[in-house]
Amino acid sequence: MNFVFPLEQTTLPVVGSEQRFPVRRIYCVGRNYLDHIREMAGSDEREPPFFFQKPADAILESGGQFPYPSQSENTHHEIELVVAIGTGGTDIKAGNALDHVYGYGVGIDMTRRDLQGVAKEMRRPWEPGKAFDHAAPCSAIAPAADIGHPASGRIWLSLNGDVRQDGDLAQQIWSVPESISHLSTLFELVPGDLIMTGTPAGVGPVKPGDKITGGIDGIGEISTSVV
Ligand code: MN
Repeated sequence: MNFVFPLEQTTLPVVGSEQRFPVRRIYCVGRNYLDHIREMAGSDEREPPFFFQKPADAILESGGQFPYPSQSENTHHEIELVVAIGTGGTDIKAGNALDHVYGYGVGIDMTRRDLQGVAKEMRRPWEPGKAFDHAAPCSAIAPAADIGHPASGRIWLSLNGDVRQDGDLAQQIWSVPESISHLSTLFELVPGDLIMTGTPAGVGPVKPGDKITGGIDGIGEISTSVV
């Protein structure tokens, strides 16, 4: 293949391997923990899952620096379980959805909350709020072959050592199999797709100089500094 210019494939490290996980798309689940729905006023607690995307090249590897984004004065952290798809499909049944999972990681759905708010108010797309450069810090992917399929476990985020988000995967309204099943009715899932599965309560603003750390029991940890 002879390209007019080189284009880099976004990848993530794989825990315990020299191989890397190539990233195709990043799907995100909105409002998947009741306590987070309640902290974001005005949402129906029983609505079906909805999805948005971040571009693959918004990935920021754990340990990297997160540049405070332009055009925002209220950029928030959202710690999330990341599901890495290893086997694609459409109309996947929840009962065998986990067979499609290669592994899991820990991600942060960085959000320009002010621009997301404008988009909500004006009924415009969420890209300026959610899909900006470096908006998807993510840990290495831990293969399910090694760690299994955690359905519970502490999910937490600390800002400069203070715990801000502290929940449990078991609080998810839509489980990982249910999210995969719903999503695969809308889009054909393909190996390399990531799904960020929503955040527990405690989201809040970051500022340059902040050190963000987070983790999920049984999966891994993530860190980044805001610059
Ligand atoms: Mn989120």
